[in-house]
Amino acid sequence: MVEIRKIGVIGAGQMGNGIAHACALSGFDVLLNDQTPDQINAGLATINGNMARQVSRELISEDDRKAALERIQPAETLSDLSEMDLVIESAVENEEIKRTIFKQLCPLLRPEAILATNTSSISITRLASITDRPERFLGIHFMNPVPLMQLVELVRGIATEDETFDAAKVFVDKLGKTATVAEDFPAFIVNRILLPMINEAVYTLYEGVGSVEAIDNAMKLGANHPMGPLQLADFIGLDTCLSIMQVLYDGLADSKYRPCPLLVKYVEAGWLGRKTQRGFYDYRGETPIPTR
Ligand code: NAD
Repeated sequence: MVEIRKIGVIGAGQMGNGIAHACALSGFDVLLNDQTPDQINAGLATINGNMARQVSRELISEDDRKAALERIQPAETLSDLSEMDLVIESAVENEEIKRTIFKQLCPLLRPEAILATNTSSISITRLASITDRPERFLGIHFMNPVPLMQLVELVRGIATEDETFDAAKVFVDKLGKTATVAEDFPAFIVNRILLPMINEAVYTLYEGVGSVEAIDNAMKLGANHPMGPLQLADFIGLDTCLSIMQVLYDGLADSKYRPCPLLVKYVEAGWLGRKTQRGFYDYRGETPIPTR
């Protein structure tokens, strides 16, 4: 089995910088790539800030932080990733962009290197088929925010070899996280279950069964969820919620996954949740105020 020590991360956004952060804290050497040096530096700055917060909460020591930051280096070109044991692609959720990255990257990698994608919704088997190594390709699906969340879904494509899967499992164990195995079907496990629940909460609002507050309180106090489903939807981003429902609806061709028209309307309004300051709650004031 290939021993994974050096990791390349493509995409220094929300997920990519979280993956680099978690890998470096667990002792892996990391090269972080994005389209421009500015985007890589923004990712590195986020990692620095997030690790400082972990130090102030006494989750890690200052020495851990310094050592981890030294283990992450920028990679301005894909050829910088040629010596990596594992490359995790975490660029934007756009199949064309991911295809272009894999086409450019594959000839640069060592034949034994493992290639993974952090996609939330694109078929692993389809992405694998455009690489030169479908047997050494798999989905390693992290949860947001990566440094805090315990679960990683490992998703096998139809051609993924056991050796590749086993090496990825050892890697996840070394991160101190727990791997769960998901087959390559739309939205895997977590989002397949979570998003229809959120969509149903939006239907409950749409049909006037309850207000935003009533629905969130009901699920917090009645089902012991740490966050209400509408509050969680705002945190995930309503555009992301809608696109995952569309993937389920298209991929499984079952009307039970029909995105709620009210969710579509919020997205059309540009009320995408926390990131735009308005969604099911309005975040512009001191405390969030329900918008319905
Ligand atoms: P993001 O928009 O925060 O970051 C994407 C990054 O990719 C940006 O920094 C962008 O500059 C970079 N990028 C775009 N084209 C590139 C290219 N050609 N080469 C290198 N970098 C490029 O998005 P994100 O939320 O970090 O999502 C990244 C991936 O993670 C997606 O596939 C998404 O489905 C998946 N994912 C997201 C979440 C989530 O909750 N956001 C959870 C699990 C998985």
